[in-house]
Amino acid sequence: MPKDLTLGEHLRRQGISRRGFLKFCAATASMMAMPPGMIPVVAAALEKARRPSVVYLSFQECTGCLESLTRSHSPSVEGLIFDAISLDYQHTLQACAGHFAEHIREEIIKQHPGEYLVLVDGSIPLKDGGQYSTIAGMTNLAILEETAAHAAAVISIGTCASFGGIPKAHPNPTGAVPVTDIVKNKPVINVPGCPPIPTVITGVLAHYLTFGTIPELDDFGRPLAFYGDTIHDRCYRRPFYDQGKFAKTFDDEGARKGWCLFELGCKGPTTYNACATTKWNQGTSFPIESGHPCLGCSEPDFWDAGSFYEALSAPAADVSKWAGAAIAAGAVAGAGIGLKSMRKRKEAAQAHDPVTVDDLKT
Ligand code: SF4
Ligand code: SF4
Repeated sequence: MPKDLTLGEHLRRQGISRRGFLKFCAATASMMAMPPGMIPVVAAALEKARRPSVVYLSFQECTGCLESLTRSHSPSVEGLIFDAISLDYQHTLQACAGHFAEHIREEIIKQHPGEYLVLVDGSIPLKDGGQYSTIAGMTNLAILEETAAHAAAVISIGTCASFGGIPKAHPNPTGAVPVTDIVKNKPVINVPGCPPIPTVITGVLAHYLTFGTIPELDDFGRPLAFYGDTIHDRCYRRPFYDQGKFAKTFDDEGARKGWCLFELGCKGPTTYNACATTKWNQGTSFPIESGHPCLGCSEPDFWDAGSFYEALSAPAADVSKWAGAAIAAGAVAGAGIGLKSMRKRKEAAQAHDPVTVDDLKT
């Protein structure tokens, strides 16, 4: 897609009708957890939107976040959104390497100051001069500082970039830190998850593309539209929790009947993420629906918290109170990001109905 085309023009070139475009806008509004009344506003904004240049930096990571984003089997709304940005630098996906690749990154900084987006996955090692992860002879710290300095905003993709993740887990041999420990003078949006949900990543990009602003964030810098509710708030097994019906093992009668996984270690009551509503694999399912407890992967230090298969220490009836205390403690730790209510703001966070390019053409 040439950069001078608007998104509306680009979609028309792909053969997408006006009706298809409105479907795309409805799906985008849904991705951003907006009510249907916002669809005309989204349509008007997207019609005129021009795709931003994006530099995607990968540091201490496992490539799972990028896998999450790129693994869909058919063209999807996520795919269209990625077509609507200009992904100009990404180690795993780009064809060029070495000096050519770095030259592209430097040119984006020079040619689009204050306009381009920086996406980061992975944590940044600071110990021993940052020598544990370098690219083109530069430490991750140096690349991040240089690239973020003239960016419009930074989006931390995944728990490693958002909170340090597994590289920062005890004993943190590389001195790993999250992006927010380095970038202090730019808006930073955290999109945690190990990996994060692709629809959530693209929902954040869609918000920026549509409105040119960052979405409303919670105390940990996470978009409230996707991280405003706990998994537990939206879990389809919640009626069993409320009735006190818990699976005791993974193969007992309760497990077969789909009872609550709290006693098998589910961290859903203390975990803010959209898995129970957006789901995974184009809305197919999510871990609890497949019979596995939530591990709490979108929360800070989830790996060190461990005890994945042990019930939360508070009695079941007190879990929501316990979660509230944990959030209050987190609010202190997250001071500076801006205190906002952790409670749900978007009742419209309905289940995501995946839309493909083919759907849009019908
Ligand atoms: S404890 Fe876990 S399985 Fe049970 S209702 Fe809450 S989120 Fe769902
Ligand atoms: S269910 Fe929990 S552990 Fe699983 S992906 Fe969602 S937030 Fe992470």
